Amino acid sequence: MNRKNFTQTILAWYDQGHRELPWRRTKDPYRIWVSEIMLQQTRAETVVSYYERFLARYPSVQALADAPEEELLKAWEGLGYYTRARSLQKAARVIAEQYGGQLPADLDKLRALPGVGDYTAGAIASIAFGIPAAAVDGNVERVLCRWDAVSDEVGTPAVRRRIAARAQELVPHDRPGAFANAMMEMGATLCTPKNPKCLLCPVREGCLGFAQGIAQELPHKAKKKPQRVENRAVLLVFCGERVLVVKRQEKLLGGLFVFPDVLDENDPAGLCQALEALGIRAAYDERLGHARHVFTHIIWEMDIHALLAEHTADVPEGQWVTRSELERLPLPTAVKAARTFAMERLAKR
Ligand code: SF4
Repeated sequence: MNRKNFTQTILAWYDQGHRELPWRRTKDPYRIWVSEIMLQQTRAETVVSYYERFLARYPSVQALADAPEEELLKAWEGLGYYTRARSLQKAARVIAEQYGGQLPADLDKLRALPGVGDYTAGAIASIAFGIPAAAVDGNVERVLCRWDAVSDEVGTPAVRRRIAARAQELVPHDRPGAFANAMMEMGATLCTPKNPKCLLCPVREGCLGFAQGIAQELPHKAKKKPQRVENRAVLLVFCGERVLVVKRQEKLLGGLFVFPDVLDENDPAGLCQALEALGIRAAYDERLGHARHVFTHIIWEMDIHALLAEHTADVPEGQWVTRSELERLPLPTAVKAARTFAMERLAKR
């Protein structure tokens, strides 16, 4: 199967039917951009439930640029990888200031925006502006590695360049956006990481990975380092109808509210001492449960404890919040279980 056949076959397959996703019903560059940022690390099924709500709240670049950070992070809650929300806003400010609130129809200018890499720039350029640019994400990389039976380790600069060049030569000049969507659709529905559905695949004829019986094994990736495990005691410190939250200053989940926590300590006396160091006198109440959250590089194993404070002492970056305030604050999914315990407790007060 030659280049033209591959492209035309994929397009014809896509035209016959594909998943109806809300961002496929628009060519509006702002909407396409928001969808692509949301899709970077989140599954399409999850993004669907956030996308319309987010756009209703921030219907334009300017609205996004002007959003208060806490409110923006709250709107992003549940999507995770909050750096994306911050970059989105930084980029919105650049677009508002430098481009009069319109995304630039230029691959290099798109690529220069915060949070926009080669893939996202290619996707916006091709889908929103009809620029014949390739958009190579993990899905597309997998399809092409299998189709060309690339058995070298992907992720190295040389292989990246090779796949990017291959993708670029396949992009049709008349329908680059449809092609980008069709390739993503292929990777998400047929040429899936496990058990590719080769028998249903429109480009099976000509697929070297299939012909050689190695499709399932490709692409070859370097082994990931095992994640580091952190044991955290999460402290729900109650005082009357309030519970203490602190704004995280660390890079991971920075700017979001969490409950105070202590590393490698689960002894009640040690937990009270850790709170004393923050200027809080509290009595240990009970252990409420355990939760686990897996980040890309770290796993948090969290024991959740309740403590009762004598008074609402001032804590750096801390706030003593009521149940309804807790509901409105942006908290990461990592502390969802702890928040549920806190909400239940506060409801009883
Ligand atoms: S034949 Fe199989 S491995 Fe090849 S592109 Fe299609 S789904 Fe992927």
